[in-house]
Amino acid sequence: TCGICVEKCPFDAIQIINLPQELTDDPVHRYGDNAFALYGLPAPGEGRVTGILGPNGIGKTTAVHILADELTPNLGDSATSGDWDAVLEEYRGTALQDYLESLLDGDVTVARKPQYVDEIPDQFDGTTRALLEGTDERGVLDELIERVGIEPVVDQDIDTLSGGELQRVALVAALARDADFYFLDEVSPYLDIGQRMTAARLIQEMAEEEDRSMLVVEHDLAILDLLADVIHVGYGEPGAFGVITDPKSVKNGINEYLSGYLENENMRIRQDAIEFEEHAPRSVSTGDVVIEYPGLEKSYGEGEFSLSVEAGQIRESEVLGVVGPNGIGKSTFAKLLADRLEPDAGELDASVDISYKPQYVEVDQPMRVDAFLGSIAEDFGTSYWNTEIAQPLQLDRIMEQQLTDLSGGERQRVAIAACLSRDADLYLLDEPSAHLDVEQRVLATSAIRRYAENHDATAMVIDHDIYMIDLLADRLLVFDGEPAVAGHASTPQSMRSGMNDFLGNLDITFRRDERTGRPRINKPESRLDREQKQAGEYYYAP
Ligand code: ADP
Ligand code: ADP
Repeated sequence: TCGICVEKCPFDAIQIINLPQELTDDPVHRYGDNAFALYGLPAPGEGRVTGILGPNGIGKTTAVHILADELTPNLGDSATSGDWDAVLEEYRGTALQDYLESLLDGDVTVARKPQYVDEIPDQFDGTTRALLEGTDERGVLDELIERVGIEPVVDQDIDTLSGGELQRVALVAALARDADFYFLDEVSPYLDIGQRMTAARLIQEMAEEEDRSMLVVEHDLAILDLLADVIHVGYGEPGAFGVITDPKSVKNGINEYLSGYLENENMRIRQDAIEFEEHAPRSVSTGDVVIEYPGLEKSYGEGEFSLSVEAGQIRESEVLGVVGPNGIGKSTFAKLLADRLEPDAGELDASVDISYKPQYVEVDQPMRVDAFLGSIAEDFGTSYWNTEIAQPLQLDRIMEQQLTDLSGGERQRVAIAACLSRDADLYLLDEPSAHLDVEQRVLATSAIRRYAENHDATAMVIDHDIYMIDLLADRLLVFDGEPAVAGHASTPQSMRSGMNDFLGNLDITFRRDERTGRPRINKPESRLDREQKQAGEYYYAP
């Protein structure tokens, strides 16, 4: 609604729709009087990958506790300890019935991959191999280690691994278990696209070949689209209530989510639709040059990784997307620009002010969020700052918390806010999507874009989420080479030629959804895949 009329629009101009508000039916579970309530449950099925698409804090973990028989739902009556037969009665005739019957018949075992892999080193001391050997109930460890490419780190201590390595270790640890039901809370953070596709393939094989039930939460929509057989959309008010819809086809579920309107539920979950351009943007930024850099070289010691960067220019008010596999030198380049590393060859203009958000956001000061941001942002607390930064990054609710108490996603949003709040010519953000849920990615993306435009500043965004890059970037900087050995960065190029270079290296093509224009990964060797490769059009229609 437009906010003026509540029931029927007298101008018939606006479709009357429901904004998320707590349902009047009984929930599946309520934690206590006025406490969080969950409506609906996902329906895992043997031999199937079931996806959940939606924000954090709407009860996904609660649902998994229920499906693992660790929490008996009370159907909203928090005075009782719950009754499975009543739940089964409630869900008779639905997609969930088979699952609930097998749950009641005997033990269901569950294997989980936690969301925040960064916390694994705090919980485990020892080598990667020691951690993984404790999980190998199916006798498949060596094969899994090889498939995800973590052999080089199996004898290293867990606390020396990068985020991308920890993510793959955590996936292997979950998949090596012998369980009926696997819950994977986000597999993509810190992984590059190739690694994300390998993870997706492994999860699908567990369903197809092993007949297991796989339930995944995933915020990278291109990967969710590829991975899931069916999805549930989750919505609600994080922390207050959550609704998990009946299953939808993956295509419809993602399309409805992007359009902001769930058809069966007659529910508007967002005011604006998210739209993609089928054709590459024509206009290449013509603003003043903010940074001009010569060809650069950097290597770490004798025979270790070396990077060469082609000379380039970055212009005012543009957002430059940076793409390429892990270990190829993207962070090294960022550190060169941010003056945190010295190039071996080539010289950078030291007069450019750069505000840099590193990939791994570490917090060591005990300080409140508002005090921290107030010490950085000159216009902290003004209505402009609130609208442009605090609101889209959903900071209001966490302003009074200590930095050290924040979750991964909260810390990421504070770090993006801190980066954008500094006065700078170039805002450099390394993987801002990590730990953000799908809705927060959408909001953060538009905040970054608007900020660059309004400040005649430039933003450079390194990310592996293709949807985020598509929505953000005007031009692309493409890295290629051999990870951990040698990297090469192209000069900034147009979206179309950049995507062709990047996806050509990966041998992946995308098609467009006819309704929303959103990119979808083509099946390798499908007709479209072959035709597009032949035409050299990996991403945009000509
Ligand atoms: P998600 O997995 O979608 O992030 P969760 O299921 O973890 O969501 O949590 C949903 C809400 O339920 C949160 O607001 C959380 O604080 C609340 N919650 C979780 N467990 C309990 C509990 N044992 N008692 C009361 N509230 C809880
Ligand atoms: P990306 O950001 O593309 O993942 P990085 O720039 O972080 O890549 O790293 C590129 C390569 O350089 C990796 O193999 C990494 O292990 C190596 N590397 C990064 N920093 C150092 C360092 N200080 N000393 C030695 N090797 C490093």
